[in-house]
Amino acid sequence: MRLEHFPETIRSIIMPSHQGELYYQCLGCNAEYSIDQLLYTCPSCNQVLLIFDKKFDELSHRDGKLWQTIFDYRKMLTIPALKGIYLYHEFIGPMIPIESIVYLGEGHTPVIEANSLLKKQIGMTFYFKNDGQNPSASFKDRGMASAFSYLQYLIHKGLASDILAVCASTGDTSASAALYAAYLKEFVKSAVLLPYKKVTPQQLSQPLGSGAHVFEIPGVFDDCMKVVEYLSVHYPVALLNSKNAWRILGQESYAYEIAQDFEYDMTDIAVIVPIGNAGNITAILSGFLKFFKTGIIRTLPKIIGVQSTHANPVYRYYQESDPSKRQFKPVVVKPSVAQAAMIGNPVSMPRVVYLVDEYNRYADSERVFFVEATEQHIMDYQLLANQNGHIACTQGGESLAGLVMALEKHYVNKNDIAILDSTAHALKFSNFQDMYFENRFSEEFNICPNPKMINTPKLIQPQDLKNFPQPGAPLTGEEFNQFVKRTAEEIAKRLQVTRTHSSEPQSTNNG
Ligand SMILES: *Cc1c(COP(=O)(O)O)cnc(C)c1O
Ligand SMILES: [Zn+2]
Repeated sequence: MRLEHFPETIRSIIMPSHQGELYYQCLGCNAEYSIDQLLYTCPSCNQVLLIFDKKFDELSHRDGKLWQTIFDYRKMLTIPALKGIYLYHEFIGPMIPIESIVYLGEGHTPVIEANSLLKKQIGMTFYFKNDGQNPSASFKDRGMASAFSYLQYLIHKGLASDILAVCASTGDTSASAALYAAYLKEFVKSAVLLPYKKVTPQQLSQPLGSGAHVFEIPGVFDDCMKVVEYLSVHYPVALLNSKNAWRILGQESYAYEIAQDFEYDMTDIAVIVPIGNAGNITAILSGFLKFFKTGIIRTLPKIIGVQSTHANPVYRYYQESDPSKRQFKPVVVKPSVAQAAMIGNPVSMPRVVYLVDEYNRYADSERVFFVEATEQHIMDYQLLANQNGHIACTQGGESLAGLVMALEKHYVNKNDIAILDSTAHALKFSNFQDMYFENRFSEEFNICPNPKMINTPKLIQPQDLKNFPQPGAPLTGEEFNQFVKRTAEEIAKRLQVTRTHSSEPQSTNNG
C-alpha cells in the first residue's frame, strides 16, 4: 500500500524515526564501546558483548498499543527494507539507515497449527513457527540480515571497505553468511570453516553454491570456533558467528513476530527453542523483554530451552536449582541428529545467564525452563511431526520432544499454547531421516528405529514382464500396454484397492 493511502494518523509515524544510540556493553566488566568499530569481545576482559540503545526508554513515550498499530500497518508497506526483520527497526537497528538495510526475504515465517490428531497425541495445542522458510532455510538469516546491514552501514559511512567475513559453523551459519556476502560481493568476501564431515551435504553445498571460500577442519564445531576466534583476533576479518552481537539483534525478530502473530497476547504462551551456541535463545529472551518493557506485550511468555542429552551444557547448568551454586562446565559432545545444536561450549552462555535472570525478575516468577531430549525422541518426534504435515528439521523435532518433556515436568500445562521453533528446513537434514528409515545409525546415537515410522520406496517390477521401459528405449504396442496394466495392478494390490468397474480401460498407447 502507498504511504498516502494510510490513515492520516498513521502516515506520519509509520516510517521509523527513532534515532537510537547503540553501543556495545561487556557482560563481564560492564565497559561500553562505540559501535563504529567491529567488536566481538571486550578488549579489556574478553567477555561477550550485547548491544543496547541508550535511548531505549524513549520508545516507551509511545503507548504499547500504538506500537502494535504501527507494526500492523507497517506490514502493508511495500518498501523492501522494512518487509523483513526491520519491520521492527526501532528495536533491532535504530541507527541503520533504510538505504543500508540488506533484505533477502528473511523473517515473517509461517506459524502452522498442529492438526487435531497430533494435538491429541501430544495432549495440547501447539504450533510450529517454521524458520526453515527463510532464504537459506534456517533462522540464521535473521541474524545475518542484521549483521550484513550493519556491515553495509559501515561501508556507506566509509568506516570499512573490502571486508573479509569469516565464520565457523555447524552448517547453517555458513550457508547464511555466504548467501548475504554473495549479495554484497562488491564489498565483501566470505570464508567459512566447517567441521569435516560434521555438516550435511546440503549444508555444504550452500556456501559452495554462493561462491564462498569453504574450509573443512578436522574435529567438531568447538574446534572450528577456536580457529575462527584466532583469525578474528590476529587478522582484519569480520567475525559472523553469534559472538557478533549484531546477529543477536536480528534474531530478536523471532520473538517480535510471535507477539504480532498472536495479536500481542502472550497469556498462556510457551515458546520452545533448541539450544546450540545459545544465540537463538539469547535473542528470544531479549526480544520478549524489550516488547515487555515498552508495554507492547503485557505478559512474558514461558521459554523452554531444549538440548540433546548428547550436547547439554546449558541444561546441566540449570539443573542446579540454587543459583549461587551454579557452575558452567563445557561438555564433550557426542554425535547428535540435532547436529546444528551439537555444541559443548556455547559462546552465548554468559548472555543466557544474564538474560534468564533478568527475564524471571521482570516476570516476577520463574518463566524460563530447560529440558533435555534423547536422540531417539528427537528423531521419533521429528518424523511424527512431518507425518502430520510439518516440515520440521531435526532441531524442530528436538523442540517437540522438549515440549513433551516440559509437559511431563509440568513446566507447561495442557491449557498452554506452545510455539515450537523449527529452526531449519527438513530437507537440510534428510540424511538423518534416511539413516532412520534404513536403520543405519551408528551405535553412538543410540537410536532404534520404530518400524511403524519407517518409510521406504518400493520398486514395482511385475515378475511376469520380460521388458521394462528404459531411458531412450521406450516400450511400444502390446508390450507397453501390458507394462502399464500389470504395473497398475501391482500397485493396486499393494494398496489393497479393488477395481471399480470391469470393462478394460482404453489403450494408453497410440489410441
Ligand atoms: C544454529 C542452529 C541451532 C542452534 O542455535 P543457537 O543459536 O546456536 O543456539 C539450532 N538449529 C539450527 C537449524 C541451527 O542452524
Ligand atoms: Zn569487559
